[in-house]
Amino acid sequence: MSLLELEGVRRHYRQKKTMFAAAGHSPVRAVDGVDFRVDPGETVGLVGESGCGKSTLARIICGLEAPSEGAVRWNGTDVVAMRPAERARILHREVQMVFQDPHASLDPRRSIGQSIAEGIETHRLLPASRIDGRVRELLAQVGLNPDHAQRYPHEFSGGQLQRVGIARALAVEPRLLVCDEPVSALDISVRAQVLNLLNRLKRELGLSMVFIAHDLDVVQHMSDRIVTMYLGKVVESGDGDDVYDRTAHPYTRALLSAIPRKLGPDERLDRVVLEGDPPSPIDPPPGCPFHTRCYTAIERCATEIPALVPVPGEPARHRSACHLAAEVSRSRVGAVYTISTPSERTEP
Ligand code: SF4
Repeated sequence: MSLLELEGVRRHYRQKKTMFAAAGHSPVRAVDGVDFRVDPGETVGLVGESGCGKSTLARIICGLEAPSEGAVRWNGTDVVAMRPAERARILHREVQMVFQDPHASLDPRRSIGQSIAEGIETHRLLPASRIDGRVRELLAQVGLNPDHAQRYPHEFSGGQLQRVGIARALAVEPRLLVCDEPVSALDISVRAQVLNLLNRLKRELGLSMVFIAHDLDVVQHMSDRIVTMYLGKVVESGDGDDVYDRTAHPYTRALLSAIPRKLGPDERLDRVVLEGDPPSPIDPPPGCPFHTRCYTAIERCATEIPALVPVPGEPARHRSACHLAAEVSRSRVGAVYTISTPSERTEP
């Protein structure tokens, strides 16, 4: 059984009426019919451009927002049907979030020890006499000096503060960590350390993770499975190697081709540069939501919405919402390929 399962989840925001408008009545479709699951011990990478719905989905997973429609099951139990207090009791304990900006996520007036202890106190996990010891243990677990528990956030570097954020998340002994761009605000030099820390903790504590990032290189390093979102919908999902080696959606291809990489002497990268911005989630285009920017679109794409279905010839877990998924997974567009014969060198 999956640890977490989302089925047909939508999150639409009503807009306030304005003097300008009819548009004021259309909802913003931040998440629009998403099926998503996380298995025990699994890391799922969630990728897509800003505004694609990743962070809204993360907030729904953590119980910080309720979906407008759809089911959210934790260990097989539908938490949306529960009373809000009961839902919060389960999700706020079992699911914890690691935020992008560690400075903004900690209270500057509280010592880091007090911030870490907050969850333990709220959920009454330990008697007061044992909380200090547990805070020291958590600091050591994330590679910080336990004697620094009395220090304040401004006394730490960005990388150290992200470690504090991770210790605070671990304090309530969660089973799922939702990491929302956890290294994008950090210096390059400390990113690898924080990623390795997360991987080590995942192994040692048997955690599951949802790892959100726009850097696909980082996602590949961290994830067992990849889910690509575009305009509030999942457009491709599958095991990391399948998605990276035989990408079956033109949008994922475009994201992957943007990763700087070192090519071998016989390798070429057929880079894709997407034109324009994603359409507005208030007024998504008919047909395939990606057809206004897609470099392989055909006539049918403008009218017919592609379903998220298994890619022909691929493992059943590899799914794509593209009418041309099989062709895309075999094509070179947006992929690294090896030049093996002189005649192939002239091909685009
Ligand atoms: Fe492009 Fe058409 Fe596939 Fe959409 S369905 S991604 S427009 S080829």
